[in-house]
Amino acid sequence: MAESTYQTRRERVLALLQAQQTDAAAFSHLPNIRYLTGFSGSNAIVVLSERESVLYTDPRYELQAAEETDCKLRVVRGPLWPEVTKAARRRRFKSLGLETELLAQAEYARIGEQLANGAQLGDVSGLVERLRAVKDAGEIAAIRRSMEVCGRAYLQTMNKLRVGMSETGIAAELEYRMRRLGAERPAFETIVAAGPRSALPHAQPTGSRVQANQLVLVDMGASLDGYASDMTRMSHTGRPNAQTKRLYAAVLEAQLAALDAVRPGVKCSSIDGIARKTLQRRGLAEFFVHSTGHGLGLEIHETPRIGRRAKDKLEQNMVITIEPGAYIPGQGGVRIEDTVLVTARGAEVLTAVPKGLLVL
Ligand code: ZN
Ligand code: ZN
Repeated sequence: MAESTYQTRRERVLALLQAQQTDAAAFSHLPNIRYLTGFSGSNAIVVLSERESVLYTDPRYELQAAEETDCKLRVVRGPLWPEVTKAARRRRFKSLGLETELLAQAEYARIGEQLANGAQLGDVSGLVERLRAVKDAGEIAAIRRSMEVCGRAYLQTMNKLRVGMSETGIAAELEYRMRRLGAERPAFETIVAAGPRSALPHAQPTGSRVQANQLVLVDMGASLDGYASDMTRMSHTGRPNAQTKRLYAAVLEAQLAALDAVRPGVKCSSIDGIARKTLQRRGLAEFFVHSTGHGLGLEIHETPRIGRRAKDKLEQNMVITIEPGAYIPGQGGVRIEDTVLVTARGAEVLTAVPKGLLVL
């Protein structure tokens, strides 16, 4: 990504800070730091002010930071915050914004003490997250690549899936293939759940083996160039019975209805409502126990949330998931999830893997 991309993002943040009369802000949430500076290490704080952008990190990251970012670098031995507050005093900032929602209370108190009678503390929680919700062309391209790798790894693995394989074995195969195809890592812990375990929406894979005549739920995502993809697909070992087919058809109907409603200006809560109402008509409302989707990008769960109480509206170039499900305790569950780009004309589904129930 061009350096100017980061510069532009920082300028947008500075304009927002000025609008709320904040001189400077210190960002400590790593995905926000990556978004603002390109730095992908695990220990940093970035301070943005009118005068300069400074990235604080420790000696382990000195070379990496110099390569990745165009910010001024401060390499600090020991804790970073004391250096940040020292600089804030020296620069005589009147106000310093912090991501207070993400700071531990004790840390927040310590920062206040270190500033002594210096800058007033302000709150910039969610400010960068709101910018991140709308993706630029480079980000959308990265998510497309991430989704493609994820989909190919899934199809390659499904070709080899046989009764008797364990959930953990299948998850390992999926993750291995994602990496072989160019992913840095899975975007989250791959979910493989067979039979009655598919009724657990966030099942961790276990040693239990796939049996004949079972649903197999796979929820997986790649992380590529830092960007996540996310999809859930269902397969069935042997021909599904009528009940399973009905369950699958109902969730698919809900997913397609929600996808159909996606366009700029629509409330996220109404997308969720459409999926929920469709399942309700099939008598499945009580079995849909999570929200319909979420934004994704540098993190797997981002703004906006597509849920019942979500306040946001969809905007062009947001990337979200649409993933209704129905989980029948003791029997099994179905979820169908796509990663979706919000375009001026509606949803562009980025997940290329066919959506029918795959019969193995
Ligand atoms: Zn997922
Ligand atoms: Zn998801």
